[in-house]
Amino acid sequence: MWNTCRALVLALVAASNFPRVHVLDCFQSADTDCYSHANAASSSRPSSSAVKSWWNVSFSNLTRDLDRFIVSCEKLLESLPVDDVNGNFVRTVKNCVFSKSVPTPLRGPLRLAAVSKDVIEGILELDVAVTQSESFLLYASGGRLLPGSVPLAHRYGGHQFGYWAGQLGDGRAHLLGQYLNRKGEVWELQIKGSGKTPYSRSGDGRAVIRSSVREFLCSEAMHFLGIPTSRAASLIVSEEPVFRDQFYDGNVKTERGAVVLRLAKSWFRIGSLEILSESGEIDHLRTLLNFIIDKHFTFISADDPEKYLVFYSTVVNGTAHLIAQWTSVGFAHGVFNTDNFSLLSITIDYGPFGFLESYDPNFVPNTSDDEGRYRMGAQAEAGLFNLEKLLLALRPLFTQKQQKQAKMILNEYTNVYQMRVLQIFKTKLGLLGEDEEDNDLIAFLLKMMEDTQSDFTMTFRQLSEVSANQLGSMNFTQMWALDDLSSHKLFSDWLNMYLLRLSRQQSDRDLDRLHRMQSVNPRYVLRNWMAESAIRKAEMNDFSGVELLLHILSSPFVTQHTAEEAGYAARPPVWANRLKVSCSS
Ligand code: AMP
Ligand code: MG
Repeated sequence: MWNTCRALVLALVAASNFPRVHVLDCFQSADTDCYSHANAASSSRPSSSAVKSWWNVSFSNLTRDLDRFIVSCEKLLESLPVDDVNGNFVRTVKNCVFSKSVPTPLRGPLRLAAVSKDVIEGILELDVAVTQSESFLLYASGGRLLPGSVPLAHRYGGHQFGYWAGQLGDGRAHLLGQYLNRKGEVWELQIKGSGKTPYSRSGDGRAVIRSSVREFLCSEAMHFLGIPTSRAASLIVSEEPVFRDQFYDGNVKTERGAVVLRLAKSWFRIGSLEILSESGEIDHLRTLLNFIIDKHFTFISADDPEKYLVFYSTVVNGTAHLIAQWTSVGFAHGVFNTDNFSLLSITIDYGPFGFLESYDPNFVPNTSDDEGRYRMGAQAEAGLFNLEKLLLALRPLFTQKQQKQAKMILNEYTNVYQMRVLQIFKTKLGLLGEDEEDNDLIAFLLKMMEDTQSDFTMTFRQLSEVSANQLGSMNFTQMWALDDLSSHKLFSDWLNMYLLRLSRQQSDRDLDRLHRMQSVNPRYVLRNWMAESAIRKAEMNDFSGVELLLHILSSPFVTQHTAEEAGYAARPPVWANRLKVSCSS
């Protein structure tokens, strides 16, 4: 049985329906070609050879009239139980997956702060010009309902910081409906910050500008890094006063409300299943899981007696895969609770996240996370905890034998994660084939980076930009991150090991290696200080910083003049060290 489970896991690693384009696709085929992420990252685009004709066709077909942009909630409403109580008053909700909930319009004037053309045109097939209209401001902020929309708030629960928190749910988000695009993809449109719902608890249903700018930019940045994520279509800011004690120190400030229009193939989370299981609503649990499998795990047959096990195995693998990808770009989610943990293994619910600067496995992006539960180096462990909770939620649907098998699948999670991480870091270092010392080579490098506080992103990037000869001569002028790293007393030992390893890749030309490495090691990531500068401007209704960052982070693997001028690949400014991000949003 053990071998069967192991085989199941490994088969799924190879065959499961991970989004087709992400870093690991390159890693799996490390011996062949691994080219531009800029192309690979956009799941909303076809392959590069088809790009030209596809864009030509789509341009003429883009919708210009928002009143003809139709969404639908029918599939959700006819398949899943809906709350029979109406109204946006806070309450404990039972026996349903959704509550109908109408958004509360924000106080105007409303302003369009940012828009992702890639999402608006590539996924929603709208002419980006429509985003300049008054109607768009209303539709995308909850002031008017799109044709076909029956706005819904989703009921879910969750384990927060290790403890069962009971009912949570969409307390400030509304699912507007599903959009079926011409490629046959179904996307769920959600607005966040659109007012109270039955799940608002003591919250006001709003989101402030700073957290909305961060969510907007990071969703898009992660997508272009090739990491599975929800997407962001637009960011609208308002004059609605919103009161926040940002650092929980009694200093309440008046901020302004904002709304992000965000998209995912599905917003269901571990907490979506947990609440039904915890409440003993087992028929609803089965109904929801069957729906999720039917729509999003289409390779699983509805009559397969092992379907829930295969589902679980896929989520286990998808989670290992996703967290390995986060690790590969130094991304720490910040609040990796089961309610923020997608069943489709995409990154969702951007809050107090952070990208590593100086390499530090103990990096905690969220100042509210006192114990460092979600520190950089513990994310895989947090993923394991969340998968244990998913298993607990699924228990009523498993036979005893399946429960044991599911546990064995879970036992493989750490191995799968480590295997992924090894693949990823090998690719980051341009290594081909197998060598039993690869693990040591990588661990040695990371330890030196930790000791010398070298910048995570730029160390890998600069290693991708320097020829083997130049590396050998240790000539790192204008390579500030490598300069820092090379101050380590064991640096030349590591370098010799690395150069020897590279020299064994006889058929690999140095230029090819650099090209491969540059396509997986970004030059620009959304560092807190970069987001902070854009936020400060946005709060003054100057959205140029957001626009610039969106533009630059849409091609994170390509050196760009404007980004260099802005210092985005330079040593971070001193004030960046003082920045703090809390859970307040
Ligand atoms: P988060 O930590 O952002 O994932 O949120 C955890 C829970 O708190 C979710 O149920 C959110 O909907 C809810 N929540 C967070 N902020 C607010 C708010 N301002 N108003 C209402 N609910 C909120
Ligand atoms: Mg959340």
